[in-house]
Amino acid sequence: MSQPTNSPPAFSWDAWYASVGGRQISIDEVDAILSEIREYQYPKFDGEVNKIKVEVDSPEQISLMIKKKAFDLGADEVGVALIEPSDVYEGRSIHEKFAIVVAKKMLWRAFQESPSKESAIECLKVYFTLGEVVIQLAEFIRSLGYPCKVEHPIGDSDILHIPLALKAGFGELGRHGSIIHPKMGPLFRLGSVITNLPLSIDHPIDAGIAAFCDICKACRIYCPAIAIPDERSPEAGKDHLGNDRYVVDTGRCFPYFAKHKYCSICLPVCVYNHKEWAKDFEGHQTKLFPELHMEIPPDPVDPDVDKHWYPKLKR
Ligand code: SF4
Ligand code: SF4
Repeated sequence: MSQPTNSPPAFSWDAWYASVGGRQISIDEVDAILSEIREYQYPKFDGEVNKIKVEVDSPEQISLMIKKKAFDLGADEVGVALIEPSDVYEGRSIHEKFAIVVAKKMLWRAFQESPSKESAIECLKVYFTLGEVVIQLAEFIRSLGYPCKVEHPIGDSDILHIPLALKAGFGELGRHGSIIHPKMGPLFRLGSVITNLPLSIDHPIDAGIAAFCDICKACRIYCPAIAIPDERSPEAGKDHLGNDRYVVDTGRCFPYFAKHKYCSICLPVCVYNHKEWAKDFEGHQTKLFPELHMEIPPDPVDPDVDKHWYPKLKR
């Protein structure tokens, strides 16, 4: 794929934390899962491609087969999107045409106190289990005789998962800058497998979520760093439904996030469906609203310092 012209530089956790005075999250369980991802999962990104290629009768048929496999492996949502140059990080080049985007939900019961050690561990646990899904899905595609590449949810990805997931019909962008799925709400994570295996693509949805965000301001009210906007920003471009975007002020969000256990308060306070009216997805009794710990925010970071600059993601 030719060099993109309208995308941000590749995501760098190290540069991001350096820009806000370093990573100040110290949770043994989180660090153990991060090590496991690096040492156990990273080496499994590549593998042998079967020399005997399975004939594909139709892109629709193979897409159905891949989706069924992803669900069997534990995915909670899966969709296919065509990769456009703006979906590839600046300076990266890929040769694959399709992204199979996979989501795995996080448990609402782990976010009832937020930010908390429990919510931070749940984020990392889901990064790991979702990593397993995309690694095994890639192995399956290679067994059919087609090369593919793992784009891990927390790895050094070449592609931008969020715009691809929107194109694959996962939901709509919320005021808080995360995708809201009509059923799962905003509490989920994304990973992908990219390939040239001929697939049929999915399409964006309009479930009335973006329109609801224009009325509801729960995430804005509870964001401790005052990073979530009151109004949409016409200068930030349009989302996939043609709406002006909400632009989260990352110069305010990131310093708070890095000092407060990945914060994420905006996700559990979001009113969308993940609470199932005070039950977890698995029927586990929960609160309807989380207990929040909102501390005084650190000084915002100058938007000109070298850090990952989310508004450029064109989400
Ligand atoms: S993660 Fe926390 S600081 Fe960042 S936007 Fe959400 S609520 Fe605000
Ligand atoms: S809390 Fe309300 S405004 Fe914020 S993303 Fe969720 S639905 Fe939209």
